[in-house]
Amino acid sequence: MTVTETSGPAGRAATRPPRGDRSNGQWKVDGTTPLNANEVWKQEEGGLAVRERIETIYARDGFDSIPPQDLTGRFRWWGLYTQRKPGIDGGRTAQLSDDELSDRYFMLRVRTDGQALSPEALRVLGGISADFARGTADITDRQNLQYHWIDIESMPEIWRRLETVGLETTTACGDTPRGFLGSPVAGIAADEIIDPTPVILEIKRRYLGDPELANLPRKFKTAITGHPSLDVVHEINDVSLVGVVHPELGPGYDLWVGGALSTTPRLAERLGVFVTEDEAADVWHGVIRIFRDYGYRRLRNKARLKFLLAEWGPARFREVLETEYLGHPLPDGPAPAPATGPGDHVGVHAQKDGRFYVGAAPVVGRVGGNTLTGLADLLESVGAGRVRLTAHQKLVILDVPEEGVDALVAGLPALGLIAKPSPFRRTTMACTGIEFCKLAIVDTKDTAAAAITELETRLADLVDDGSLDTPILLNVNGCPNSCARIQTADIGLKGQIITVDGVQQAGFQVHLGGGLASSDRDEAGLGRTVRGLKVPATQLPDYVERVVRTYVAERADGE
Ligand code: SF4
Repeated sequence: MTVTETSGPAGRAATRPPRGDRSNGQWKVDGTTPLNANEVWKQEEGGLAVRERIETIYARDGFDSIPPQDLTGRFRWWGLYTQRKPGIDGGRTAQLSDDELSDRYFMLRVRTDGQALSPEALRVLGGISADFARGTADITDRQNLQYHWIDIESMPEIWRRLETVGLETTTACGDTPRGFLGSPVAGIAADEIIDPTPVILEIKRRYLGDPELANLPRKFKTAITGHPSLDVVHEINDVSLVGVVHPELGPGYDLWVGGALSTTPRLAERLGVFVTEDEAADVWHGVIRIFRDYGYRRLRNKARLKFLLAEWGPARFREVLETEYLGHPLPDGPAPAPATGPGDHVGVHAQKDGRFYVGAAPVVGRVGGNTLTGLADLLESVGAGRVRLTAHQKLVILDVPEEGVDALVAGLPALGLIAKPSPFRRTTMACTGIEFCKLAIVDTKDTAAAAITELETRLADLVDDGSLDTPILLNVNGCPNSCARIQTADIGLKGQIITVDGVQQAGFQVHLGGGLASSDRDEAGLGRTVRGLKVPATQLPDYVERVVRTYVAERADGE
């Protein structure tokens, strides 16, 4: 197999708005008459209402007492999805109904919103994993923690424990403001432009769980950073605030809107405005209400903010934001400078207060309850304070005293965490995949973990002699939905069933050459599909090795 034939978007993908000759289901244009089944039940009763029923009825009476509309719809507003029944192969995913694919257990998503986790919080999270989730816990690429094997009877106790340490599952899924991405080094990095913590906390305080924002056309993703490594993948969120310094007004934020991946990827665009810290929550509220009021609701696959931006363009979006939602113009502002680093914060770094932060990599985000609990013990033993999750399925330990750094780094591998990982362990991400996801076609986590181990051996020569001196992002997805960001990786893999010599098997379609501003390139760009190339899952290490060796041998200076 050779990598020669390419197709697909070179940069900003075409995201055509729906046809203009009929209603798109925009509340402010077309009225609120529901145009599809999801819109009907969301208007009948919002998802937030289901929590009380879970606590008072379903947890007492069990799984069979849950009506379908709550089970497959409203539960998402509290971070709950039914997980895939074990043993159903990927070739049958498209043939079976949701009911046939669904197990009686749940995936549960806990949002962290860039919040730092204390040892106490880590113990609570680890305890939930051990007591209710068969030891599972995965860091997602949105700084959430995701459990599996949750039964409905456990939910009241899980919520009670989470709330003791300030954590929640409120609108962790559903047509809502999902978990926020916040800079993992907020408030501590010596080179930070502005600490986003006050803005994140203010948006959460005012709007998280707000019924007025609980029926959006679809999901709404937020990212906020003030770190110059641009560490929250701001180009692929619905709204992003990125730290900049205005020549007269000082530190504040540059506003980006309309980014998202999935099967129709589109990078966010700048509106060209400068947002002060004081006004950031109002501006966020304006953007999300534009989405609520003008977003397309007729077709679910056209309901993200990116489609509205494609129709309006940044100038009209800015005008509507300023005139209809804020009531005054915003000042023009500068763009962020190019990223100063990879933004994953792996390794040992100095804080501005003389202590250190240490970024560590698990394998494809897998941590588990024992790791979380063990990490709490390790933190306390070296005098470290807190942990944040990253947008790259990694974690960062904060506030490590200088005398504790070596002991911390030495203690991490016993927990499955590495502060000096190989290039492949550092950069590989994988979505949930066929183990638990009902939409999955192929396995991802185990396949990616095996590939990492294999590549560490096979490509050790390139690492040792220094010729592989740039990170290679390898993102493994179990279906076309791009939860692990296929199009923004150097090598993006999209799971599908392929036929080799007449035999159907798990494999991947390949995207090459994607990347975000934070991934060591000047400008974000979407990867290109390598048309006709399908890689069997069993041959993944062979393929990656070939691509990496070809890249190292043939790249131009500075490439
Ligand atoms: Fe599931 Fe597909 Fe998302 Fe992976 S990319 S988690 S398989 S929906």
